[in-house]
Amino acid sequence: MNGRSAIVSVGDELLAGRVVDTNAAWLGAALRLEGFPVAWRATVGDEPEAIARAVRLALDAAQVVVVGGGIGPTKDDVTRDGLALALGAPLAPDARALELVRRKYSERGLSVPKGSDVQALLPAGCEAIENRVGTAPGILHRVPGRGQVIAALPGVPGEFRAMSEDGVIPILRALAGRGPLPAFASLTVAGMREIDVGRLIADLMERGRDPVVGSYPKLGRVVLTVESRALPEAEAARRVREAADEIARRLGAAVVGEGDLRLNEVVARLLLECRVTLAVAESLTGGLVSDGLVEVPGISEVFLAGFVTYSNRAKTEVLGVPEALIASKGAVSEECARAMAEGARAKTGADLGFAVTGIAGPTGGSADKPVGTVWFALADAGGTVAARAAFPGDRAAIRAFTRERAFELMRRRLLRLAW
Ligand code: ATP
Ligand code: MG
Repeated sequence: MNGRSAIVSVGDELLAGRVVDTNAAWLGAALRLEGFPVAWRATVGDEPEAIARAVRLALDAAQVVVVGGGIGPTKDDVTRDGLALALGAPLAPDARALELVRRKYSERGLSVPKGSDVQALLPAGCEAIENRVGTAPGILHRVPGRGQVIAALPGVPGEFRAMSEDGVIPILRALAGRGPLPAFASLTVAGMREIDVGRLIADLMERGRDPVVGSYPKLGRVVLTVESRALPEAEAARRVREAADEIARRLGAAVVGEGDLRLNEVVARLLLECRVTLAVAESLTGGLVSDGLVEVPGISEVFLAGFVTYSNRAKTEVLGVPEALIASKGAVSEECARAMAEGARAKTGADLGFAVTGIAGPTGGSADKPVGTVWFALADAGGTVAARAAFPGDRAAIRAFTRERAFELMRRRLLRLAW
């Protein structure tokens, strides 16, 4: 067969745009790395005929078909009916599926709810896929004599992912017909605009080259991807490594590291590795920076405190920013950011005091301090540094950009790079 895959996402909420189809995005990346790149994708509502139609089209296009959503016990979960229609196989109780469902409930000390036996109905010729996260088993069908596989999985993202990893990908690894595995690397770049990154590596990004170098912007960073399908696979890996190293050489300290990295995690790791303690004082971000640190397990060893000092009074009372300073320079000023950072450090005894103050809008801007003006400061034993930024967008965008820049500036300070 053709070494391609297809994804059918099922759910009225996906069609209506109430839920974004993150499952298909995640699975598409995973299937590509398994040598079954996605050739076709569809989204259909909770309707057996529509599901059956999509499954038939998917089987025309691909060797591997994954259907996501609609296999729970409720009335709107009709994927099993759609699959039965597509395969022309009637639904029948499956002993192993029934056993899997019952065991799930009994493991949690729950009685089996009425109506849940429907989850053990499978189209004839299908087998159940165990669900280690939720209760609904998945459904697997191997099309006789064609090397084709169909898997139907629950829509809940955690279950979808766990079952793809446990129950589908191992089967794909044993299937004949997969394509060559592409060699792949990615790099996260921060503190540079995508256009400037692109200029520095324009020759490597030329179309028609192998490896293919691509870029996509994310909040506060740019991710570069390098992929080769050269043969043999060792040659592809060599080309990818060479290009990734060349990119890293050209972009220098702007390269945060390999992979699609989140800056808060990078900073947390640096703090933990260097055993440097930190206190944060925030105004417009309202705790976003502290939250980004607390997201990372183990951070309590180095993150001492986060102050959300939104009012001028709080800046004075909590952090010791002089009232006269705020009166003369304003709460959004280099002087105030420095005083906040020094205050956070002094209050807690942390090695580093970091502060951010700015205007998130939509009101409160002025000619010399327009909406989006943000001051950052970082105090340590060697003194205090400050930086200004001007972010575009609405209140949410400005706050989100501010959070990312905060982590990029912390990263720079921890690596002794210029602010
Ligand atoms: P359950 O046993 O929970 O009913 P299910 O297979 O019936 O599982 P759905 O009812 O389709 O799954 O969806 C369950 C939840 O997962 C919903 O909150 C839905 O919004 C979410 N979900 C479904 N499909 C996707 C998807 N493709 N991407 C992201 N979230 C999804
Ligand atoms: Mg459901």
